[in-house]
Amino acid sequence: MYQWSDEHNMLRQAMKDFIAKELVPIRDELEHGNLPPYGLLRKLFATFGMDEMASASFEKRIAYDKAIEAGEVEPSEPKRGEGMDPAFSLIPTIELCRQSPGLVTAMGVSVGLTASAINSKGTIAQRERWVPQLQTMEKIGAWAITEPNSGSDAFGSMLASARRDGDEYVLNGSKTFITNGPYADTIVFICKLDEGNDRKDRKVLSFVLDAGMDGLVQSKPLRKMGMHSSPTGELFLNDVRVGRDRLIGESEEVKKGGRDGAKSTFQQERSGVAAMSLGIIEECLDLSVAYAKDREQFGQRIGDFQLIQQKLAMMEVARMNVQNLVFRTIELAAANTAMTFAEACAMKLYSAQQATAVALEAVQLHGGNGYMAEYHVEQLARDAKVLQIYAGTDEIQTVAIAKDLLK
Ligand SMILES: Cc1cc2nc3c(=O)[nH]c(=O)nc-3n(C[C@H](O)[C@H](O)[C@H](O)COP(=O)(O)OP(=O)(O)OC[C@H]3O[C@@H](n4cnc5c(N)ncnc54)[C@H](O)[C@@H]3O)c2cc1C
Repeated sequence: MYQWSDEHNMLRQAMKDFIAKELVPIRDELEHGNLPPYGLLRKLFATFGMDEMASASFEKRIAYDKAIEAGEVEPSEPKRGEGMDPAFSLIPTIELCRQSPGLVTAMGVSVGLTASAINSKGTIAQRERWVPQLQTMEKIGAWAITEPNSGSDAFGSMLASARRDGDEYVLNGSKTFITNGPYADTIVFICKLDEGNDRKDRKVLSFVLDAGMDGLVQSKPLRKMGMHSSPTGELFLNDVRVGRDRLIGESEEVKKGGRDGAKSTFQQERSGVAAMSLGIIEECLDLSVAYAKDREQFGQRIGDFQLIQQKLAMMEVARMNVQNLVFRTIELAAANTAMTFAEACAMKLYSAQQATAVALEAVQLHGGNGYMAEYHVEQLARDAKVLQIYAGTDEIQTVAIAKDLLK
């Protein structure tokens, strides 16, 4: 039976202390002002040594991969992630999501998606060039696949293109809803190789871009419903010239950063959503229990009404189920085993739905106060909704699960 250990609980408490001291005092600026989240995230990394741990683990892995390339060792052990307790990376996610899930979105896209996409499919030179600063959040990353007319059908409707020109490529296209887009220093741009062939047969390639390149425009943050502490924007590419050194894997072979690369990134995203959902659910439940004990109507506390008790019970069931899914992720990662794609989709679908349902019930339980920005459940309900949309909508997860069952 998996349980949080004493060490895990110590980390949770340390995270809570950090959040109370550093995040809560500026939460209004992050959520309702224009304060980007990166300063706080860098402080978090420095306080918990996450930057040093990431650097040490990166250097160890690069040294090992260089030794393999030089034929000095056999490519077997150590495996990626070995020796690290996966719970230690999920606990900060859970705790941050109790207060400001947007911070996790911004951090997850920069480190979890952008750095990971380069690290898993890039050459050693590419990894050394971009990953170290992304992993420590010294630089901010964005991962861009979505376009105005290409969302769920990310590959089929993609218009962004790369055209060969001598030794270089010329990139064109626009991307939208890109997390960290307005502030990103490093961007993974996913597009199709235009060889004059039918668009559906074109290879999918990923390129790494740096802010400030000629022809690249990063929009201002878009206004949106929630996740305000995570800036989202558009990217416009007009004849951006790049060398092969920016093509991930430096090869047009599709397994080096093409559809497979993007798909493995989808899988990672989906697992992270369960931990995010757990943080939202835990916070909504705690706030709802406290309010149900405190608020009185008809001469008694509202927690004594059975209809309110039913809401609390449903929240507790959701908390237990989503926590169990998070525990399963941890156990599988510790055993170096991946979930199947269908399992990851099922976990994302269920967790996101539960987070949204719980947060909306928490608003209901708080009555008019729940609708007011002064009460934290209002923000969490707006934030939770996007978990059912990004990283693949509920409908797309459902289709993926059913496809797997029927294959
Ligand atoms: C806050 C935020 C941050 C984001 N960050 C990023 C990012 O960093 N990088 C990035 O590339 N993208 C990002 N996205 C984009 C996100 O991944 C897409 O919005 C999402 O995949 C859905 O695509 P869409 O918006 O085009 O909706 P559409 O695909 O147009 O879907 C519209 C509706 O149709 C449904 N639908 C579509 N196809 C089917 C089908 N086959 N069967 C049944 N129903 C279907 C959908 O489920 C949805 O309900 C972000 C989005 C948001 C809101």
